[in-house]
This record gives sequence, C-alpha cells and structure tokens, in this order.
Amino acid sequence: MAAETGDGNCLGWAARDPSGFLSPFKFNRRAVGSDDVSIKITHCGVCNGDLLWSTNEFGDSIYPVVPGHEIAGIVQEVGANVDRFKIGDHVGVGFFVNSCRDCELCNNDLEFHCSKGAIITFNSVDVDGTITKGGFSTFMVVHHEYCFKIPDKYPLEFAAPLLCAGLTVYAPMKLHKMDQPGKRLGVIGLGGLGHMTVKFGKAFGLEVTVLSTTMSKKDEALTLLGADRFVLSSDEQQMNAIAKSLDFIIDTASTDHSLDPYLKLLKTTGVIVIVAAPGEMKFSPINIVLGMNTIAGSAVAGRKMTQEMLDYCAAHDIYPIIETIPMHYVNEAFKRLRARDVKYRFVIDIQTSLAEFGNDVDRAYAVEPAKTAFGIKAGIRRIVEAEGIPYTYVSSNFFAGYFLPGLSQPGSTTPPRDKVVILGDGNPKVGASSGGRNGGEKGNEDDGETQDEEEWSEFINVDAAPPTRQEN
Ligand SMILES: [Zn+2]
Ligand SMILES: [Zn+2]
Repeated sequence: MAAETGDGNCLGWAARDPSGFLSPFKFNRRAVGSDDVSIKITHCGVCNGDLLWSTNEFGDSIYPVVPGHEIAGIVQEVGANVDRFKIGDHVGVGFFVNSCRDCELCNNDLEFHCSKGAIITFNSVDVDGTITKGGFSTFMVVHHEYCFKIPDKYPLEFAAPLLCAGLTVYAPMKLHKMDQPGKRLGVIGLGGLGHMTVKFGKAFGLEVTVLSTTMSKKDEALTLLGADRFVLSSDEQQMNAIAKSLDFIIDTASTDHSLDPYLKLLKTTGVIVIVAAPGEMKFSPINIVLGMNTIAGSAVAGRKMTQEMLDYCAAHDIYPIIETIPMHYVNEAFKRLRARDVKYRFVIDIQTSLAEFGNDVDRAYAVEPAKTAFGIKAGIRRIVEAEGIPYTYVSSNFFAGYFLPGLSQPGSTTPPRDKVVILGDGNPKVGASSGGRNGGEKGNEDDGETQDEEEWSEFINVDAAPPTRQEN
C-alpha cells in the first residue's frame, strides 16, 4: 500500500516504532468523497494519547503512527452532498472520525461510544481498510458529520486543544450537572485537562478548588486560572479543613493514586468523575457507601456536545493556555509531556512549520530534530533564505518569554503569520559543546537580523550536513 511506503499526497510526521520518535512521512489521504470535506490543517494539539500510541503503550499501535487528534484548520474542498460547510470555513476534528450513526449510542449523541466501534482519528481501521492518520500532517479528509464548526472569531490555535482536552472535561461537567452556579467543584491535577476544568468551572459560576500534589502550581491556579482555593493534597491538615465540602470533583491525574483522600472531600451524594487513565486506583468502599457518593468515568463525548462546547468557549471567551511549537519540536514536546513540563497544552503550528514545505519530505527532513541545538535553526535558516521567506529569529530567552502562559492569550505576542519563526531549544549546554558561541544563546535576546554574520556562519557550520534520513 502506497501509504506505508513513504509515498503519497500528504506530508505528516510519524512514529515508526515504540521509541515513539517522530519524523517526516508521506502517505495517502483518500480522494474527497461526496460526504467528505478536505481540511487544510493549521494547528494540532499534542495530547497524552498521541504520546501513548506513538510509544505503543496499549500494545495496539500500527506503525507508522501519525498522531494528532486536536485538529483545527480550514476547509479546502467539499464533497457533492455536503452543505454544512463551504471552502474557507474554520473547522475542527477531534478524537473520532466516523461511527455507524444508527445504533442506540450514536442516536443518543454518544458517537464516540458507538456500539459498532467508532473510527478513531489515527491508528484505527478506516472504512476503506486503510489505517487512519491524524493531525500531525498538512491536510485530512473526513466525513463532514465528524467535522465541527469553529466560530470565526475564535483563533484556530486555541481551538485545537478544545477538541480533546476541552471536550473531555466539558462533557462530564454537563452530564453531571456541574454547571449550577454556587456549587463547589474540586479539580485534581492541573495539566491540559485540569486547567480547562478550572476555566469551565469558573465560567459556570462554581467555586473552584484546585487539589494538587505540588505547591509550584499554587500561584498560577489562583492568579492565572482564577481558582478560588488551592489545596496541597499531601497536606492532611489542609485536606481535613475542606472535608465534606465539595459537590463535585473532576479527577484529571494520570498517575496511580488512591481515591480515598478525595472521596472524603465530597458532600453527601457528591460525584467524582475520572477522566484520565491511571494504571490503578484504590478506594475503600465505605468512603462512598456512607456518603452515597458516585464514582464515574468519562471519555470524549459525541458530536452534539463537541459543537456545543466549541460554541460555548467562543461565546464566553474561554481559551486554553497553550505553547505554540513548530512541527520539528514535537519530539522535545513529547519529552516535556512525559516530564509534565508543559503549560498547559502544546499546539503544533502546522501551517507555518509543516505546510510550508508543501509535500517535500527532503525539505521537511532538513529541519528534522537535529543532533544539536543550533542544527535546527541552521537548517531552517538555509531554507527560508533560499526561498526568500521573511523570518524572525527567536533566541532561547525570548522563547522562554514567549511561552510564558500569560503571553499565550489572544492578542499577545504571537508570531506574525507571514514569518517563519526559528526557535531555540533553550539548551545552552548543547550549543556550547557544538562549537556555538560562548554559552550558546544564553543572555541573548536579539533577533537574527541584528546578529553579526560571523555568529550566524558558526550556526550554519554546526549543521553543514543534513541529518541522516531514516527510511521506513
Ligand atoms: Zn486526547
Ligand atoms: Zn453507532
């Protein structure tokens, strides 16, 4: 099959084995059928699920895996039967791309849970027998029923994480009626899912308590996200002080933990909903029996809820906090995701860092994660200069500043769309040992234009040879 040999009409990035290392990969998207839309992907969020399937965590990965299921983009072609969308519409695709639309679950707006099995956005067998490929790619073709309208005013890069992280917490909050103003909500964990839970909780008028294992999240929880209270969950005294005070808890923690300390926080008939997938969770039944409490689970949701959530976020100005990254940063992003070092969602700027290469794998390979910090920039710089693309150089220091959560809101210092942004990887040690300037980029906040040529030629020399190309 052409799609698996590295040929095809679409350029993506794929994991080839359980190392989970991603690199450029060409494959075939199907022709646009009468019920399909073709979407030029502009942005794709990086979810824990992308990492888990790239590394075959569940034992069912079918390589090459092109991950990505928080997809935002622009309609570029519509099939003959499609009247919901037109070319130019802003749209999103989430975790599933098809279902039977006929079973009880599909008829109850729970398409993801389709009794015949929903088709997942990547690593799933599609209707034509091919394996689905996700949003770490330049475009996709999808049945229009599984494509959602992103309101025009809502920036696409912020819409991407809503399609999984946003929906994953919005759906159970609505289902369990956690939208009653004045009620008290606890949020366990403050990552991609947790920070959206706080945002929805505040928008619903709830009193929100963040329950975290680390004090390092306290300031952000209270000031940046607007939580009402922060409780260090390992501090028994703090936990006792809020015993039996919460109506609801959303548990987003993905590491193994006991539920008991949290169950004790619930009021009688309170509900805790688990939305992440730790390996094991223990609890003493007495902790739910006496309080008549409910432990529930939730995953994704259906089409109706997806559209409702997108519209709600646009109407109430709810934006995830994101770090926008170029495609070739994804392996580093996976590393940081593993280390929980992300505030709060990575979003890949497909439009400027992958789509720019058209379908040219060789050019995309020139910016494959290089062996040195400077190699990445040198590779990109060679290309943008050869192509005459205007560019901005962003040093490590600026990089850090740009990615401060407070800056990643609409209207802040986001990179201009007509420019390629060259990112440092913030690792001066690597730069120094590779023959770069003293201390790499440390202390340097200049842009590329103001650096002298001698320094630039050093960058280029570091990466004189393109990285070795990995065949399938
Ligand atoms: Zn996800
Ligand atoms: Zn169904």
